[in-house]
Amino acid sequence: LDLKNEDLTILGELGAGNGGTVTKVLHEKSGTVMAKKVVFIDAKPTVRKQILRELQILHECNSKYIVSFYGAYLSEPHICMCMEFMDKGSLDSIYKKYGPISAEICGKIVVVVVQGLTYLYDVHRIIHRDVKPSNILVNGSGQIKICDFGVSGELINSIADTFVGTSTYMSPERIQGDQYSVKSDVWSLGVSVIELALGRFPFAEEEANSDECEEEDEDESDELADEELTIPDDLAGTLSPTKPAPRVVASSKKKKSSSKEKASKTSFDKSKGSSSSKKKRNGKKGSSKGGVSLEGSSVQMSILDLLQHIVNEPPPKLPEGKFPKEMDEFINLCLVKDPAKRPTPKDLTKHPYVIEAENAKVDLVGWVKSMH
Ligand code: ATP
Ligand code: MG
Repeated sequence: LDLKNEDLTILGELGAGNGGTVTKVLHEKSGTVMAKKVVFIDAKPTVRKQILRELQILHECNSKYIVSFYGAYLSEPHICMCMEFMDKGSLDSIYKKYGPISAEICGKIVVVVVQGLTYLYDVHRIIHRDVKPSNILVNGSGQIKICDFGVSGELINSIADTFVGTSTYMSPERIQGDQYSVKSDVWSLGVSVIELALGRFPFAEEEANSDECEEEDEDESDELADEELTIPDDLAGTLSPTKPAPRVVASSKKKKSSSKEKASKTSFDKSKGSSSSKKKRNGKKGSSKGGVSLEGSSVQMSILDLLQHIVNEPPPKLPEGKFPKEMDEFINLCLVKDPAKRPTPKDLTKHPYVIEAENAKVDLVGWVKSMH
């Protein structure tokens, strides 16, 4: 498809994220309804052209677990990407509107993400880098698909600087600026599934104040409000909690690696993954008075507390006895802090929870019909 703005009629707004806005459009010539994502890139035209070239790989990403791509074009100074329109929207808005997602539907979601990530990595050597509920979409036929993965190294570099948001799906190793791999996506999946099953982001005040965190609490929590966050030097490089990938991982103090997606394949540097306190600062630990309110019932930690919590504290888990045992076990595996011991998406395709969920008869059409 040869896409250009003139051929697209705007049908409505679908949402906006840190990187851009998404609009529902009709491509008049083909009669196709699409979701058009517009991203502003503050870079030279040559860089934008490079991004456009890199995005062409999306034409080859064909899987039932992945939102299809229709094409991308420049509309200076923006880049427009047109993809399959998913009429039920993303899982974050679904659970915020309809409440926690049942264990059996979570199972189907897990299958999609695990298989989708495995496809992207095995076939294209692509690491997603932005697994989270807003990047898992649903349509009226009951299909679930992932979107917004990092195909273009230049695009990642160009938009990774934005620092917005109070939640993060970043793995401990990524927060610390260590080598990033496909296992970091597995961590993000674990966080996302807990969020969907509980109907709230799993790192919340209750947890921050639980016993493991209290012992060293040093009570100087509120000098930083999220809105006016100053980022400490050694974290500044890695902060970009909601963006596909921190530029820093490729370019700062740690080893210099190519910004291209495919370079991220390298295995972990084991000497780094385990340190729990080297990034600790401010003497703060588990304090949460600087947090902000989220839609859910609990209070979100401030972003610095959150990042420190992820690095220093035990990982979150589902409340005991409320979910199938295999689901608990699956999530605990996703949230193993040491990436060397965490499974890859491909490993997870063989996990009993995933195999069972694959075979389970779940009425996804009924589920989406119940949403209006
Ligand atoms: P972030 O910018 O932090 O990644 P995000 O994923 O919410 O957050 P966008 O990717 O810009 O930001 O998407 C904004 C919203 O648009 C999403 O939350 C989703 O609800 C909606 N959306 C995105 N792509 C589609 C699509 N293909 N079909 C339908 N809705 C979509
Ligand atoms: Mg998105």
